[in-house]
Amino acid sequence: MRVVMKFGGRAVANGEKIKTVAHLIKRFKDEGNKNEIVVVTSAISTVTDTLLETANRVAKEGNTEKTKEFVDEVRKKHELTASEAITDINELERVKEEINERLAEMEKALIGICLLGELTPRSLDYIGSFGERFAAPILAGSLQSTGMEAVHLTGGEAGIITNEEYGNAQLTGSAEREIRERITPLLENKIPVVAGFIGETKKGTITTFGRGGSDYTATIIGTAIDADEIWLWKETEGIMSADPKIIKNARKIPYISYIEAMELSYFGASVLHPRAIEPVMKKEIPIRVKNVYNPEDEGTLIGKEAEKTKKAAKAITLIENTSIINIAGTGVRSISDVAARVFSVLAANNVDIIMISQGSSEMTLSLVIDSAQLERAIGAIQSINTGGTVIRNFTSNSDVCAMGVVGAGMAGAPGVAGKVFSALGKEGISVIMISQGSSEFNISFVVKKEDAYRAAQAIHDVFEMGTGS
Ligand code: ASP
Ligand code: MG
Repeated sequence: MRVVMKFGGRAVANGEKIKTVAHLIKRFKDEGNKNEIVVVTSAISTVTDTLLETANRVAKEGNTEKTKEFVDEVRKKHELTASEAITDINELERVKEEINERLAEMEKALIGICLLGELTPRSLDYIGSFGERFAAPILAGSLQSTGMEAVHLTGGEAGIITNEEYGNAQLTGSAEREIRERITPLLENKIPVVAGFIGETKKGTITTFGRGGSDYTATIIGTAIDADEIWLWKETEGIMSADPKIIKNARKIPYISYIEAMELSYFGASVLHPRAIEPVMKKEIPIRVKNVYNPEDEGTLIGKEAEKTKKAAKAITLIENTSIINIAGTGVRSISDVAARVFSVLAANNVDIIMISQGSSEMTLSLVIDSAQLERAIGAIQSINTGGTVIRNFTSNSDVCAMGVVGAGMAGAPGVAGKVFSALGKEGISVIMISQGSSEFNISFVVKKEDAYRAAQAIHDVFEMGTGS
């Protein structure tokens, strides 16, 4: 069996956990001597955050001394992790040396950012890439210590060749063949350990797929090498019917279709990178989300069939820090003209739109975006309204939460929307905005922030998401 196994940041959070991961891989390898494994690793948990925050900070502050202190902290963290995870002394020395070489590159780049006081998307991707580039040698070293032959590779070394869209890189046409040619020969006698999240342009510049991108790395590789399955190992049971921190009787969903999983990942469920499903769809490669603490458990299987269970809706998700923008047209221009102008200026300013709804008779347009992008969005919309000919007025409200109900059983099933909204009505929750995707696999709506958890519970209850099949 040929499997790509991806380990998230929390699964490799320290040396002990990395050892557990190495044993888990070894067990699978030993189960059948025909088993072939590609490992994809995330950065050690919180490392990517720290790298990106630091890059932003040093660009503003320009303090080279503090930059050196930061590099030392990163060194300590990774050397400690390596010395816990790697029991073979020689291997440990090799890995430490490699980490230090990479740290020297990182330090140079950070000092450069410091002195220039400028942080481009390209340098942000470069700095952000180091987390995975430290983690991959450590995990490979840990595998070596358990007696396996492992080699670690960066995204570029694994053939992941992308365009120059920093922060959201797209694969080039030749990448799939490139990946296949580089990875397949290794499988004969080695375990490749690939740094997730990152790719490389044809010119050799590092790019990333955006936050959480290691899932995507795993599914790209799995597709390129025709894996039998892709296993995404997390510190959760699998994909859940709701966030268990909010809904006490949330439970694992045993099976979910590609489309449903995609809807979920687009709609705030942080289980999967939004682009992770797309590569596997054509070849229909199954993905499993598995729990590192319970490896025998089947986890959640993600596959092609959108089998309709008795339940119309499978999961409820919410995106907490959202803002709604209401735009009223002037009547001078058609609402589609207003929409076209608003969407293009928002796109030009990198504002992601989560939901859209339009009331044509009143010439109004409502948009939901991430609150972190609100200021930028307002500035952008103001910029197209010189003379007030496009927009009469617009308002925004950050006290809202966008929610999504997802399930293949909703398509063509009458009354599902009614059930959603009457459940909210019974709770006395008013709905601010509604939208339903044409796939009918998703109904999304906006409520006041203070109502969000109650709304989630009401919907989880009415569709009995916490029980049965
Ligand atoms: N390390 C990256 C992040 O934190 C990628 C990943 O974990 O998948 O976003
Ligand atoms: Mg992650």
